Amino acid sequence: MEPTTIKTNFVFGKMLCKLFRHNYLQSKKITDHVHEYQCSCCGKRATVDIKGNIVDLTPQLQEINDTLSKVYKKRRAVTLRAS
Ligand SMILES: [Zn+2]
Repeated sequence: MEPTTIKTNFVFGKMLCKLFRHNYLQSKKITDHVHEYQCSCCGKRATVDIKGNIVDLTPQLQEINDTLSKVYKKRRAVTLRAS
């Protein structure tokens, strides 16, 4: 695929998202209640904030999610070993 075609599809996808909102699909499970999402149209990434709203995935939120994921996995491993 030529770079022009990719750029055209990306721009077209962004236009669709502006008109009809993003089509977020779950891309990563952080915990049972926190997930990361990616738009199937334009590729924009999002996550859930402390109030449960979907917000843009900033570098700070990405770092928080990575740390939260490590803690969650470690805690889950301890819980499974204890039972
Ligand atoms: Zn989008």
